[in-house]
Amino acid sequence: MAKCKFCGKDAGLLRGVHQECQVIFEAEKSQVEDLAASAATSKTELKKLENKLTEMKSNSFLSEADFKEILISAFDIAVAEALEDDLLEESEEDALVSYMKHFDLKQDDINEENSYTKLIQAGILRDTLEGKISERVRIQGHLPFNLLKSERIIYVYNQVEYHEPRSRTTYSGSSSGVNVRIAKGVYYRIGGFKGTPQVTSQITHVDTGVFAITNKHIYFTGSSKSFRVAYPKIVSFSPYTDGLGIQRDATSAKPQIFSGIDGWFVYNLVMNLSKLAL
Ligand SMILES: [Zn+2]
Repeated sequence: MAKCKFCGKDAGLLRGVHQECQVIFEAEKSQVEDLAASAATSKTELKKLENKLTEMKSNSFLSEADFKEILISAFDIAVAEALEDDLLEESEEDALVSYMKHFDLKQDDINEENSYTKLIQAGILRDTLEGKISERVRIQGHLPFNLLKSERIIYVYNQVEYHEPRSRTTYSGSSSGVNVRIAKGVYYRIGGFKGTPQVTSQITHVDTGVFAITNKHIYFTGSSKSFRVAYPKIVSFSPYTDGLGIQRDATSAKPQIFSGIDGWFVYNLVMNLSKLAL
């Protein structure tokens, strides 16, 4: 005889749970998840969630570990929904940070789905769209770049692959994202990036290294190739789900493609930085 893990009563031979207990468990779970997802982007909803949690902790099938898991998945849902249509608003960002603090969620807890990274990236984009130089990223260690005096690092990726096309005709990219105007800049919504191509094998992998975005340049340093490109020298940017292509302002220049980055974030960032740099 096995005992039901939810109600603790006999569940019969070979069965771990009562089906009706499982149904109640699932219903409780989605109820908390819905409340938590709205609480994550609205401070007023946080109190409601807190009351519900107090009530359910003494009387529900959810365990302490279940609650924590739900609070984390609700955070992921809230970040994804908040970014789907337009850029994260300041009030939404504040609420997400308050939610993290309130439930003592650590960066590592909430970054399994990259939600924490997306939150930081959305903040950087909002700063940039408002014409500010974002300083949300702390660089640990020494970067292999020789920055200008007034230059600021905005974001850095490691292990980025640098590619060049095999022939001039095999490469194309286009933005299918709907533009949303925010403040001074233009934002291409995250949902639109699902339609952009991935970096394909039609290109040659040249080197792998550090890729950095500053307020003035794009930098790349690998073991054999090292260069920087100033925004006014770039005539077009191509978005990929996992990369960025740039075309320099010279008839002989080949397209240059970086992969292993967040296409949505980097494309929005460089498009708007290049407008600021004009
Ligand atoms: Zn049961």
